[in-house]
This record gives sequence, C-alpha cells and structure tokens, in this order.
Amino acid sequence: MDRGPTIYDPVCYHIPVPVREIIQLGNPLLREKSRPVKDFRAAAQTLADLRDTLHDFQQRNGFGRGISAVQIGVPERLIYLEIGGRAYKLVNPALRGGSHDRILVWDDCFSFPQILVRLVRAAQVEVDYVDPHGVAGSVAADGDFSELLQHELDHLDGILAIDRAINQHSFATRAEYERRYARERVVTVGGKQ
Ligand SMILES: [Zn+2]
Repeated sequence: MDRGPTIYDPVCYHIPVPVREIIQLGNPLLREKSRPVKDFRAAAQTLADLRDTLHDFQQRNGFGRGISAVQIGVPERLIYLEIGGRAYKLVNPALRGGSHDRILVWDDCFSFPQILVRLVRAAQVEVDYVDPHGVAGSVAADGDFSELLQHELDHLDGILAIDRAINQHSFATRAEYERRYARERVVTVGGKQ
C-alpha cells in the first residue's frame, strides 16, 4: 500500500545546537598564539557558538564562567564571559593594566576540568576590547572577574593555568580541592591597594 509522501521526518527536523567540542590539554592548538580578528561577521558566529558551548558545559558540570575561541578550535582573539549577571563578548581584548596587589586563587579550566591550580593573579585589571559591532570599549574588573579575564587572556597567548602554578603543591584534583581547599579560594596576598 502506498502511504504517500512522508510529511514529517524527525531526522530532517532535527536542529543541531551549535555546541562545539572543547579541546583538551595535550592538543597543541592550546599552545598557539591566537590571531587578531578581522572578519567580524565570522566572529559573531564564533561568539554564538562560545555562548552555547559555555551553557552546555555549565549544564553538564555545574560551573564555568568563560571560554576563549581557541578552546573550540578557533585560534582567534575572542572571549565570551558570563559573570555578575552579565555577558561579555570581547573581540581583540588587550590588557591595559593590572594592579600591584595580588590575589591567590585556585584556578580551573574547561580544557582540564578535573585539575585545579593554585596561582597568583593581579587583584584588579583593565582590559580594552572591541564589541562584535566594532565599537571600542573597556572594562575594569576586580576579584573573580579580574581573575577570569586574566585566565582567558592567557589562552589567547597559548598560556595555561598550569604554567602559572606556584610550586609542586599547587595542583589538586577537583575532588581533593572540594575536600581541602574550596573555602580558601580567593586570598589577597598583599601589595598596594
Ligand atoms: Zn581555560
């Protein structure tokens, strides 16, 4: 019996979510210096993919606030952040300055999510950037936000949190971190205010 044309095929109607694979420690691309963005149209699509990939990671892992384009295999100077109830789309970000005072933090990374690294960051930073429409802006950040910006800017230069470990005692699995160190996450370690 002829059933006539198929009018609904769930396979055809499947809409893929643009969640990208997050490349992991050991992939040499993570060590490359990302190139400046020139094509803002393509950058807007990459930023949308970064947002969706971040949300997917948050849903599956219960943490995560920022991601750089190189982590989804696009070595361009693009960062997507969500912190303090706001989203930031930073094109060609550049560190303008950092404070002398420092914070001691346990840092984590989507590219090796089960390892935390104790390191020191500037307590405050200022970052210049361009938005996806080509409008220049700058952002001043402190505490968690400052730490996050420095982490993502490092990615654009092929630098990973493990490179900034203070010493051989600066590594913990996520389970050991939760058990031993979670309450000491951010500590100010002096310098000028
Ligand atoms: Zn990272």
